[in-house]
Amino acid sequence: AQKRYAGLVGLPAETACGKTIAMHMNAGLMADLPSLATSGAEGVGLFRTELQFLIRNKVPRRGELATIYAQVMDAARGKPVVFRTLDIGSDKVLPYMKPQDEPNPAMGWRAIRVGLDKRGVMRMQLQALTRAAAGRPLTVMFPFVAQFEEFRQARAILMEVLDSEAKLGHAPPASIKVGAMLETPSLAFAPDRFFEETDFISIGGNDLKQFFFAADRENERVRKRYDTLNYSFLSFIRQIVARCDRFGTPVSFCGEDAGRPLEAIALTAMGVRTLSMRPASIGPVKSVLRRLDLNEVTAVIDEAAARGAQSVRADLIAYLANHGM
Ligand code: PEP
Ligand code: MG
Repeated sequence: AQKRYAGLVGLPAETACGKTIAMHMNAGLMADLPSLATSGAEGVGLFRTELQFLIRNKVPRRGELATIYAQVMDAARGKPVVFRTLDIGSDKVLPYMKPQDEPNPAMGWRAIRVGLDKRGVMRMQLQALTRAAAGRPLTVMFPFVAQFEEFRQARAILMEVLDSEAKLGHAPPASIKVGAMLETPSLAFAPDRFFEETDFISIGGNDLKQFFFAADRENERVRKRYDTLNYSFLSFIRQIVARCDRFGTPVSFCGEDAGRPLEAIALTAMGVRTLSMRPASIGPVKSVLRRLDLNEVTAVIDEAAARGAQSVRADLIAYLANHGM
């Protein structure tokens, strides 16, 4: 299947209406990095650092992590890599961490909440990233930010780390970008200052959708209720993008839907201009995007909603079929 899309690798994801969609890839292990060249991704839009923690039987050491992060940057050959800090808890349980007895782990002690409460691990990871980046750009993203205050605190820890690393004589990164994952509806309604202060936002649709619909991402029984092509969710995405655009805040979408052609075109029709997905999805998504007029897709979605359709799936499938796709 990859061969079918090989001819697209060097081509931009430019739509028939002249909009260019930036295509990045998700990664987490060194083994993923060769796909950067073969898929034609512009960079790693989401590097899931927890995978390095999940494959070990104890917390990795700072030096070990710094080496891995430096290797990731080397392998990226100057393409940008967005390092997401440790995203554990909920569905990602570290074998060497005391299991938490929580009534609802998805809404419990996870991701940035753990990082802010256990600052030692967060600091250690940020030190490893800082050292790995020495002299190169560093992009850090905090997962599961539900409110501005959490972002501020996490960013302050990063600034402290940069300071202390400089005092220790380590060469600083050439530049720093700090962003937040928007995975809870609350962050979309944060004060304006959040959008002004964050360097970028990445929408984590897998989690955002489960909280938007109150439908567990792991629960097959509510799978149909967890749908990106539901108009309510699409209008929410449209509002988030519009808010980011108003402040000039770069926004991307890095959940699994970015790699599903039908979902990806709906997201881009709502204004998303940067997608990050598994490398194998880049060809198929690009191939569809290059044949589309996004204004038409937006019109299809809005017409479906005007008729009262809650899901726009049938309309989008019909539209693509009419266009030979
Ligand atoms: C997401 O929630 O969309 C996301 C990209 O993070 P993860 O799937 O790792 O929770
Ligand atoms: Mg998530």
